Amino acid sequence: MLSRILIFLFALTTGAYAQTNPDWTQPFPPYRVIANVYYVGSKDLASYLITTPQGHILINSSLTSSPDLIKKSVEQLGFKFSDVKILLISHAHWDHCAGSARIKQVTHATYMVMDADVPVIEDGGKSDFQYGKSADSHFPPTKVDRVLQDGDEVRLGGVVLVAHKTPGHTKGCTTWTLTVVDKGKRYNVVIVGSPNVNPGYKLVNNKAYPQIAQDYEQTFRVLNALPCDVFLGAHGSYYDMLAKYPRIKDGGENPFIDPAGYKAYVADREQAFEAELKKQENGGK
Ligand SMILES: [Zn+2]
Repeated sequence: MLSRILIFLFALTTGAYAQTNPDWTQPFPPYRVIANVYYVGSKDLASYLITTPQGHILINSSLTSSPDLIKKSVEQLGFKFSDVKILLISHAHWDHCAGSARIKQVTHATYMVMDADVPVIEDGGKSDFQYGKSADSHFPPTKVDRVLQDGDEVRLGGVVLVAHKTPGHTKGCTTWTLTVVDKGKRYNVVIVGSPNVNPGYKLVNNKAYPQIAQDYEQTFRVLNALPCDVFLGAHGSYYDMLAKYPRIKDGGENPFIDPAGYKAYVADREQAFEAELKKQENGGK
C-alpha cells in the first residue's frame, strides 16, 4: 500500500500521473457556455471556442491526443475547425499546449502566447523552470506567431480578448477576459490561467525562477481586481464545471454566471499559496 502511495506521489510530482488522468482524455459533450463562448474540451481539460463572423478563436490545444477531440466538438456545434483563425493558451504546460503544433498545421491559425511562456512553447517544454528535465512533460516545439505582453488585446470579428499576465504557475501564465452580451445583458467573462502552486514548486530560493513568490502575489492582485460575472478556467475543476453543466438545461439562470464562486476560488487559492509560502519560509515546518 505504502509503495503504491509513493508511486502515486512520485507520479504526481513528475507529471506522469497528470498525463494519464482519465478525465483529461474523456470526451465531454460540447456546449454553449454563454453568448458566443463554447466549451469544446474534455471532461476536465478546458478548451474554449469563441466564435465571430470572421472566424474563431480557440483557447487551449491540450494534450497531443486532444486536437481530434476538440475538432469533433467544434463540428458537433455546427462550426468548422478550419475557421479557427487564432490559437491561444492558458499557460505553457503540456496539458494545455501540447496539441498546438497539430492544430496550427491543420487550421493554419495564428498562435499567440504571453512573452515569458514563449521560450518554453518554442523548445517544447525543455526550459520550463520545474518540468524542463522531465521528458514526459515535453511536447512538440511550436512556433509562436505573435508574442503577447501583459494587457495586450486579441481582436477578431468584433471580439476583444484581453491577455492578463498572471505568472507564478508558469512565467507567462495568462488569464483571458472578454465581455459578452447575452439576452440583452453585458457580462464579464474570466478564464483563469492557473493560480495553483504545484507539488514540488519551490517558492523560496528558486534558482530557476527567483521572483516566483512575487509573481504569485502579482497574480492574486490581478485576479482580485478583475470584474467577473462568468467564471471559467483552464480546468473544469477550477469552477466546478461538472456540477454546473447539468444545470444549463434547467432553463433558469446560467450556472456559469457565478461572481461569488470566482471570489471564493481566488480567496481559497491565495490562502493556499500564502500557507505554502509560510511553510517553505519556515524550512518546511
Ligand atoms: Zn499547469
